[in-house]
Amino acid sequence: MIPMVITDSRGRVIKYARISVTDRCNYRCVYCMPEEGVKSRARFETMRYGDIIWLSRILVSLGIRHIRFTGGEPLVREGMADFLVSFREEFPALDISMTTNASLLSGFAGTIAKARLSGMNVSLDTLDGDKFAAMTRLGDISDVMSGIASAVGRGIPNIKTNTVVMRGFNEHELPDIVKFSQKLGLIPRMIEFMPLSGNLWRRENFVPSREIFELLKPAGDWKPEARGRRETARGPAKYYTDARTGLKVGIIDAISGRFCPECDRLRITAAGNMRACLFKGEETSLLDLIRGMDEAAARGAILTGIGLKPEKREDSADGLCHMSDIGG
Ligand code: SAM
Ligand code: SF4
Repeated sequence: MIPMVITDSRGRVIKYARISVTDRCNYRCVYCMPEEGVKSRARFETMRYGDIIWLSRILVSLGIRHIRFTGGEPLVREGMADFLVSFREEFPALDISMTTNASLLSGFAGTIAKARLSGMNVSLDTLDGDKFAAMTRLGDISDVMSGIASAVGRGIPNIKTNTVVMRGFNEHELPDIVKFSQKLGLIPRMIEFMPLSGNLWRRENFVPSREIFELLKPAGDWKPEARGRRETARGPAKYYTDARTGLKVGIIDAISGRFCPECDRLRITAAGNMRACLFKGEETSLLDLIRGMDEAAARGAILTGIGLKPEKREDSADGLCHMSDIGG
């Protein structure tokens, strides 16, 4: 059977879905949400695991090849690690991955390893315990370190660290973070700080990707990865290889970059709302269709939602959201 392919009105092939499993989080990262947190939705307004599986069957039948689970913090949701294992049983050939703050990972890495994820992204913005506590407002870096060690120890493949770069906070730590990640066999990635509702974004604390690249120079003799050789680059990161060691670093120029022409993704919030673009406020509500198991209507709504994908990012304020709601 020829696999189904969905393209949007600009011919972009849509093959990647990011599904948020919860809008709750045990941290309050300054770049992600306000100090008081974000009002969580009631449980009945959140997709149940069965809803996620039902929706994923439709997404896969439409041509989605990779599903990433995110949040909020996915591992604060009860049963998440077991869910990943059953999700793998349901979709043996799918690329399945997760983004996590790793704070609870040490307790779940053994179960998660059974889900044969194709990759895992772990947030790591600093190596300094005091800075980490200030940045997450609630976190203890030792939890994250043991989470990362457990994931590595259990053989979870293709682990990447995500560092949001904020001037005056961590920009001089980038070479150390790169070395730390590479030593563990992880791929470090640096992300431009995005302005989102309720976070601390200011022009003064934004570090553009060209400056991030300069800041990374003490950690390697970086050469851009050859075009077409983007095996680690499914997504918006640009990768550079150290000519001396062959190790990589990624930079995600979420603000200064132009990745819209290659965008292949959809986002589904924990409440079952689909967003075709991170920067566009419009959402397509799928929850009632999922709960009513109305397959034809759900497919139609997804295709209509894909039709709302803009050609390029709109910088208007109405697109801004809480990252914890949309899942990064
Ligand atoms: N709680 C998980 C975590 O922190 O990895 C998953 C959800 S988090 C919203 C997903 C990703 O979004 C993380 O890598 C985080 O660093 C990134 N992120 C959050 N706010 C951001 C911002 N304002 N700019 C850039 N990246 C951001
Ligand atoms: Fe939570 Fe992740 Fe947002 Fe930090 S970035 S507050 S860990 S959802």
